[in-house]
Amino acid sequence: MTEQEKSELRDRIKAVQERIARAAEHAGRDPKEITLVAASKMNDAEHVRAAIDAGISVCGENRVQELLEKYEQHAYDGADLQFIGTLQTNKVKYLVGKVSLIQSVGSIRLGEAIAKEAAKHGLQQDILLEINIGREPAKSGLLIEELEEAIGLLRQKESLCIRGLMAIPPIADETSKNFGYFSEMHQVFVDILTKKYDNVNMDYLSMGMTNDFETAIACGANMVRIGTAIFGARPYQIVSP
Ligand SMILES: *Cc1c(COP(=O)(O)O)cnc(C)c1O
Repeated sequence: MTEQEKSELRDRIKAVQERIARAAEHAGRDPKEITLVAASKMNDAEHVRAAIDAGISVCGENRVQELLEKYEQHAYDGADLQFIGTLQTNKVKYLVGKVSLIQSVGSIRLGEAIAKEAAKHGLQQDILLEINIGREPAKSGLLIEELEEAIGLLRQKESLCIRGLMAIPPIADETSKNFGYFSEMHQVFVDILTKKYDNVNMDYLSMGMTNDFETAIACGANMVRIGTAIFGARPYQIVSP
């Protein structure tokens, strides 16, 4: 990276942090309450390190292979590393012991696989339960009516700690649409919080990305996952027919 690129990255991070602070204050909340997770997919180790140098303290990856490659290159040294993507049970073994939080536990089966792997290592793995708030058939995540059962089973696992909820609402053309989904998520979050289950700590409500994080914060998110606004647009692979 050139000095110019590093300086632009610093400016973008600062701008995102300021927007988060403004959104928090607007909602009558303390900006310090909001955790910014830099979604670093498709950005190499050098870019991740530069982001950490510029003040990023939490990184989120969404592909196991990519995480492992960058991990080997010490990309995340000095930051907290979390997993935010779709996870297959056979890949759980690569993450336990490396990530502080697995945000995307969208099925009981996946939760159980994580619990088993963590127990093997004598660890307790923090997780968020992912809700398929838009009820999209192609997306992973628990439906709201499946949440109670998942909590009931997974909170009994000593090698797991449920730390909150995560959601990725459908891609919306207008922010107002996501407002409904985000509000619904907050309602579910508060419901679970009020029930005060043992071994369930509703610390995090993870929702909001580049296009909608201010709306998410207005609706009660205290963790936002931001990629594009930090690193710039991702170079998507063009698949020829
Ligand atoms: C890529 C990604 C983000 C960030 O998306 P942007 O729109 O680039 O901010 C957030 N959450 C998950 C799960 C992602 O994969």
